[in-house]
Amino acid sequence: MARLSDSTRGRMDIPTTADIVIIGGGVMGASAAYHLAKRGMKNIVLLEKEEFFGTGATGRCAGGVRYQFSTEINIRLSLESLPMLECFKEEIGQDVNYRQCGYLLVATNEKDASAFERNVQLQNRLGVQTQLLGGDEVRARLPLMKFEDALVGTFNQKDGLVDPNSVVAGYISSAQKMGVKALTRAEVIGIHVSGDQVVAVETTRGLIQTRMILNSAGPWSSQVGQMAGIHIPVTPLRRQMFTTNALEEIPEDFPFVIDFAQSLYFHREGEGLLIGMSNQNEKPGFDQSVDEEFEFVNLEAAIERMPLLEHASRASHWAGLYEVTPDAHPIFGGSHVKGFTICTGFSGHGFMHGPVAGKLMSEYILDGKYLTVDVSMLDLARFEEGRLIKEYNVV
Ligand SMILES: Cc1cc2nc3c(=O)[nH]c(=O)nc-3n(C[C@H](O)[C@H](O)[C@H](O)COP(=O)(O)OP(=O)(O)OC[C@H]3O[C@@H](n4cnc5c(N)ncnc54)[C@H](O)[C@@H]3O)c2cc1C
Repeated sequence: MARLSDSTRGRMDIPTTADIVIIGGGVMGASAAYHLAKRGMKNIVLLEKEEFFGTGATGRCAGGVRYQFSTEINIRLSLESLPMLECFKEEIGQDVNYRQCGYLLVATNEKDASAFERNVQLQNRLGVQTQLLGGDEVRARLPLMKFEDALVGTFNQKDGLVDPNSVVAGYISSAQKMGVKALTRAEVIGIHVSGDQVVAVETTRGLIQTRMILNSAGPWSSQVGQMAGIHIPVTPLRRQMFTTNALEEIPEDFPFVIDFAQSLYFHREGEGLLIGMSNQNEKPGFDQSVDEEFEFVNLEAAIERMPLLEHASRASHWAGLYEVTPDAHPIFGGSHVKGFTICTGFSGHGFMHGPVAGKLMSEYILDGKYLTVDVSMLDLARFEEGRLIKEYNVV
């Protein structure tokens, strides 16, 4: 999938007014632009600071999509969002390569095993057909891996992988066809507020007068909040992964495997594997270079689980930023500044919820309430009011 930028059609002039300015051209901004335009909103401007859309967290993510969460709200978001990805081609005309390889989460300690059992009960109650597997079943399903310590596993065949760049490109080009002005190399550097109302957005390419903005700047959304005097508790946290060259032993239906206690994961990527692991000692920051020392830790842990990797070679590696909130749940809705709306903070699993999140923001902006899933409890005010909702299944 070729990267999409506004330069493909000549450098577009920055408009001087907009009914809404969407800040950030990742999956959230792209989906919101598409859904607002589809609902008939006019004069929508989307601004992306980089040369191409989708080069932030979205373009660096693992592409995993799953129903397996530990909170009702995240499961409900998946129940709406994953079917939107399944019929993306029908609706938007863009193939996003949805592969339902299943996610197999493995618990190796009692605490995680009990949490897994509770999660499966909750998922089943909400209509998600996740299976609970015993340790022997896990070992039987993963003959290439060493999981002597597996206590239980959970498996859902409908979880899988989707191509992030295709999703962003599909939403942006469809939004552009409906009149959205989507611009790259257009960084927002200031937000003007008069009284308690947004009145303009200052960019590296000029000023845009607007009374409505959507902050969908992902890991950078706290900085964008500061421009309007709003504290948004989103912390950027580096995560990295690498891919291997072709490994003929890996079957085509190899699942997305997560060794939960180590936050270590493996999924098929092309004819090889993509392998990642979360560094629990990572300090917040905007550094997106690969930490080679930690990559070695990751590699050793991976070989321990899958000895055949000893003979594999690395094909590529990269790092990106999670956009983490204190309760690992996203932030939807408004703020104390009128016209400043927010869709951010998905804490490492936002790509899969991008489709429904953009739809929900179109509802919030055009209808004043959420119709598809009630996410009103995921407002910005919850942090000050102590209404946090903890997600256990963060990798
Ligand atoms: C290594 C890694 C693996 C992941 N794996 C998964 C996974 O398997 N499944 C999953 O669902 N999620 C995963 N995620 C999380 C997922 O990528 C994010 O939750 C999601 O992409 C966030 O989308 P976004 O649009 O909010 O942010 P982004 O994609 O980062 O988009 C925000 C955009 O805003 C732009 N921007 C910032 N500031 C400004 C400004 N001032 N002016 C203009 N533009 C600006 C940025 O350049 C960026 O393009 C992963 C993330 C990482 C880093």
